Amino acid sequence: MNVHVDTQILASAAATPVTVARGDGIGPEIMDAALRVLLAGGARLALSEVDLGEKVYRGGFTSGIAPEAWDSIRSSKILFKAPITTPQGGGFKSLNVTIRKGLGLFANVRPCRAYAPFVATRHPDMDVVVVRENEEDLYAGIEHRQTDEVYQCLKLVSRPGTERIVRYAFEYARASGRTSVTCFTKDNIMKMTDGLFHKVFEEIGAEYPEIARSHMIIDIGAAKLATNPERFDVIVTPNLYGDIVSDIAAEVAGSVGLAGSANIGLHGALFEAIHGSAPDIAGQGIANPSGLILAGVMMLQHIGQPEAARIVHDAWLKTIEDGIHTADIFASASTRRVSTDDFADAVIARL
Ligand code: NAD
Repeated sequence: MNVHVDTQILASAAATPVTVARGDGIGPEIMDAALRVLLAGGARLALSEVDLGEKVYRGGFTSGIAPEAWDSIRSSKILFKAPITTPQGGGFKSLNVTIRKGLGLFANVRPCRAYAPFVATRHPDMDVVVVRENEEDLYAGIEHRQTDEVYQCLKLVSRPGTERIVRYAFEYARASGRTSVTCFTKDNIMKMTDGLFHKVFEEIGAEYPEIARSHMIIDIGAAKLATNPERFDVIVTPNLYGDIVSDIAAEVAGSVGLAGSANIGLHGALFEAIHGSAPDIAGQGIANPSGLILAGVMMLQHIGQPEAARIVHDAWLKTIEDGIHTADIFASASTRRVSTDDFADAVIARL
């Protein structure tokens, strides 16, 4: 069944305004599926749709975002976004970085958990949340040419930025009943920048005596995350390390197509799947919409609709447990190989 969701504003007194971007590649397919599931699960959303990505680049906006889209995002303060294709080469600034800066999205939250025995993984007990600082570090945009042969990128770590992300990680742990927070830095080498991050972690962590805290040097931390992810609960880390370890964690969980992420900010929030636009399978109707559905669940929790979040999450989990799987996770525990739309229908049937 291929039901196109009409993303005009849905009249409902209690609906929360949400800006939707269908993105590129598999984006429109998985966004249709995810919206159908969320709305059927009782989400009260006033949706307005904007274009982001390829179409916009071709229209002459090299940032990938037009002014009207900004107006919608700034007004709703919530963006539900399918993946976009990033232009290769050229001087384009990353659209994700532009949105992150524009909305002050300081925290990137990525839960990475195993769904064993239903989805194959070597680490069935893994359940890690990576909380990544999202604005500073080597991604602060301070990069320049010194000579034709030497280029420089500066690492920026501020006390206010670090306090905000570390406090967010501990508050997240407390609110979600998690018992430990681990900090990854390289403060044995970068004693001032990473040293500050580690110091702030210890200071703020002391305000949360019920939550165990530990620090690991990023290289051994990443190695342990790959081989023994069960030992971690919440991980908080600067931007670049977080970018890398969150991909490791998602991959180790066996579920790159299953993970959603939240970008939480001072002026808004963005929810998306962790994967890209998968141009190799676009238009075939076989993409897994789970990452976007789970990002939608995080969005519902964030906007104060926990009941709809629970209903959608339970139905999604039941679908996975029943072995109804898209091709990317179809394996020995699967019972039925389904298309993107059939997967959405199966979730809706279990609401
Ligand atoms: P990708 O995540 O799009 O694809 C990697 C592999 O995983 C492919 O084989 C793909 O078919 C598969 N895959 C990804 N998502 C899937 C899903 N939901 N169901 C089934 N299979 C899935 O990574 P890529 O190929 O490196 O990137 C493609 C484009 O996406 C690039 O332009 C990249 O810049 C962009 N990208 C965008 C975002 C974003 O918008 N947040 C994130 C990452 C990459």
